Amino acid sequence: MPTDKEIKKEFKEKASKEPDKYYATSVLKKEGFSRKKCSKCGTYYWSVTNDNVCGNPACSGGFRFIGNTPAKKKLDYIGVWNEFSSLFKKWGYTPI
Ligand SMILES: [Zn+2]
Repeated sequence: MPTDKEIKKEFKEKASKEPDKYYATSVLKKEGFSRKKCSKCGTYYWSVTNDNVCGNPACSGGFRFIGNTPAKKKLDYIGVWNEFSSLFKKWGYTPI
């Protein structure tokens, strides 16, 4: 009996050959994504950028957001909780 990893590997190979049959590719295309093949590991992935490597840290050179946050607001731990709390307060919840 094949293991979960073997079944997943087999499915991945099958789905990679016919992605339109197994994935909601029309939605991705409509949202501006295009299917690419990672130049390092060969895995197929979807992206809106002009990169040529997948999001796996081993291919992309590590976690790129560390020291290069995409966040517009710089918040510390308490600041995050205050933002979180005020958002829920706006939606009618009472922070306790
Ligand atoms: Zn890769």
